Amino acid sequence: MYLPKIREVKEALTSFFSKPYTTKFPAGGYKPEEQFRGFPRYHNEDCVGCGTCAQVCPPGAITVIDDLALKTRTLTINYNSCIHCGQCQEHCITEKGVILSNEYSFSIMDKKDPSVFENIKKDVLLCEVCGALIAPSDQLRWIRERLGAKAYAHPNFLLNIQRDFFELEPSVAKSRIRREDQIKEACPKCRNKIIVEDEFYAINR
Ligand code: SF4
Ligand code: SF4
Repeated sequence: MYLPKIREVKEALTSFFSKPYTTKFPAGGYKPEEQFRGFPRYHNEDCVGCGTCAQVCPPGAITVIDDLALKTRTLTINYNSCIHCGQCQEHCITEKGVILSNEYSFSIMDKKDPSVFENIKKDVLLCEVCGALIAPSDQLRWIRERLGAKAYAHPNFLLNIQRDFFELEPSVAKSRIRREDQIKEACPKCRNKIIVEDEFYAINR
C-alpha cells in the first residue's frame, strides 16, 4: 500500500484551510493588476484625431472615417477584433489620447452591440481652395502649440491663431490660383500650386 509522505499530508492540510488561488469570477469579480491590458479607451481632451493608432493596430481593429460634408473624422475601435496588444497607446502621438483601461469583461449576444465599439469624433479642417482634407483641427492646434512662435511662419497656422480671436470668413475662390492665395487655409498640393503656378503662369501660358 502507498503511504503518503509527511510533506504531501502537510500540503493537503495547508491547502484545505487556506484561501483558493483561483477567483470566483464572474460571481465574485476580479480586480486586475495595475499593468493589466484591458479595453482601450479614447480620451477626448488628449486625442487629436491624427489616426496613428489606426495605422499601427496589428489586427486593424481601428477604423478612421472622414466625412467631408460634415467636416468630421470618426475613429472607432472594434473590441471584437482588438487583441489588447497596447500598440495604439504606445504609438499615440500625444501619449495620452488612447489608454488601455482595466476593463476586461463584457457580455453580448450581438457582435454589433454598441458596447463593442469605442468612438471618438473630431472636427477637421478642409482646404479653402480645393476642399480636400488638411487635418483634424485639434491636431493642427497641437502642432501649433509645439511649434510656439515658429507657427507664425506658416499661413495655415497663422490663420488658425487669428481664428481663435476673430470670426474670419473663408476667402472667395478666384478664377485661377494666385500668389495672394497664400493667406488661405490650403492643403500641401494647393500651396505648391499657389507658389509654382503663380510664378510660372505667364511663362507657361
Ligand atoms: S490594443 Fe492593439 S489591437 Fe487593440 S486597438 Fe490597440 S493596437 Fe489595436
Ligand atoms: S492622438 Fe492618439 S489616440 Fe488620438 S488619433 Fe492620434 S494616435 Fe490615436
